[in-house]
Amino acid sequence: MVAPMYNEESNIDPFVDRVSAVLEEAGLNYEILLVDDGSRDGTWAAIGRAAARNPSVRGVSLSRNFGHQGALFAGLNHARGAAIVSMDGDLQHPPETIPLLVAAWREGVKVVNTRRLDSADTGLFKRFTSRAFYVLFSRLSGVQMEAGASDFRLLDHSARDALVGMGDTDLFIRGLVSWLGFTTRTVPYQARNRHSGVPKFTLKKMLRFSSGALLSFSVLPLRLGIGVGFVTSVLSFLELCYILFTYFCGRAIPGWASVMTVMSLMFGILFVLLGIIGAYLGKIYEILKNRPRFVIERTVGFEPSAPFRHGLDRAR
Ligand code: UDP
Ligand code: MG
Repeated sequence: MVAPMYNEESNIDPFVDRVSAVLEEAGLNYEILLVDDGSRDGTWAAIGRAAARNPSVRGVSLSRNFGHQGALFAGLNHARGAAIVSMDGDLQHPPETIPLLVAAWREGVKVVNTRRLDSADTGLFKRFTSRAFYVLFSRLSGVQMEAGASDFRLLDHSARDALVGMGDTDLFIRGLVSWLGFTTRTVPYQARNRHSGVPKFTLKKMLRFSSGALLSFSVLPLRLGIGVGFVTSVLSFLELCYILFTYFCGRAIPGWASVMTVMSLMFGILFVLLGIIGAYLGKIYEILKNRPRFVIERTVGFEPSAPFRHGLDRAR
């Protein structure tokens, strides 16, 4: 069990209590790995106390805030176990669903995804933007994904190993999991309200998250230029014909307004395409830097001999 925690101090105890109650009732052997994503409140102290109380709790603290995906990835790197369940630390993903995921896994399913049915917390705006994003994403990348997909899922250890070995700098874990394949099943769940605390995702974070996901999964926007360039070439050829025609008819060339219109339109398109190329170039630059995707500062509950892994080990 892996959960990222960013400023969730008040959620640690209820989270650990509910998750361990469910897992014990199901008679499962488990560990709860909590990843402190550079919190500025008492999250790390709360994780330490939980680990002291419950030997199944382990903690990893990142050196700064790496974002939800970075923290989850760090957790997946350090999780042991034949199957690993990832979920949010605010109890919006009901622990009671975990036995259903495990049952599917026992039938041989390697990746058990979940689908959010609806949540009292989910506003109309979020629902709409989320749906629009997944439609666009599936179109552009060819990787099929449903709206309402989240990072509440069970991974078999083989799927986990494959995921952890992928070298993408732009972590978009649900996309990577979808890309991996494996026998997959989707289990619906009813999202709950946050136990306490405030949501950490701002619109800006959401936009960066989704544009990063699109850029790392699709090169289609780069090819946009070919189509646009072709259409504009045809148009300018037609205009050239028209200009020659008026010239040979001896009529005066019309004023500069039309020229300016065409020019500014061309420049607009040109800059958009340049921007797209720049965005991909930036991605290549980031990958070349080959920086780790997370850095660990402290751990609790790990055996002293346990190998200490950073996000450095890439497949490449
Ligand atoms: N989270 C994190 N790092 C961040 C933002 C969020 O580890 O930079 C964690 C957060 O503590 C929570 C989970 O990711 O456990 C989901 O965050 P949140 O509830 O804010 O997202 P939402 O439910 O609104 O999608
Ligand atoms: Mg939440």
